[in-house]
Amino acid sequence: MADGNGNSRRRFLQLTGTTAVVGLAGCSGNGGGDGGGEETTEAPTTTAPPSDDDTVPEQYATATSLGGQERDPDSLSAKSDVQYQEEPKEGQQCSGCTFYIEDKNGDGLGACAIVEGTIDPEAWCISYAPYQE
Ligand code: SF4
Repeated sequence: MADGNGNSRRRFLQLTGTTAVVGLAGCSGNGGGDGGGEETTEAPTTTAPPSDDDTVPEQYATATSLGGQERDPDSLSAKSDVQYQEEPKEGQQCSGCTFYIEDKNGDGLGACAIVEGTIDPEAWCISYAPYQE
């Protein structure tokens, strides 16, 4: 009987010890989780800044281009899809394009009736079409 009790105590201690270790491991895991929580808190801040490359000030949203085409915010090409570049090409630039929407807020940038984002008047893309008065 004494052996039986001894064995029972040993098993109990072994089990208790194991449980304690698991418990500590659990605490460590939670501690790490809290650290991760800080990262999660930072994540919304990281995603908060909008990409202003594809947005324009409100006054350009449905403005009319030099050639008379109204801008449709739901039907625009990405700059990357039209090989948009910040410099003129062979004498062609946005300020002379029929799709160009002139600067309306004094920041020196305009918009485009068919390409998303603000547009530099000295830029160019493959959709360039000369504006003819
Ligand atoms: S050249 Fe391209 S981005 Fe510039 S105004 Fe014309 S269509 Fe728009």
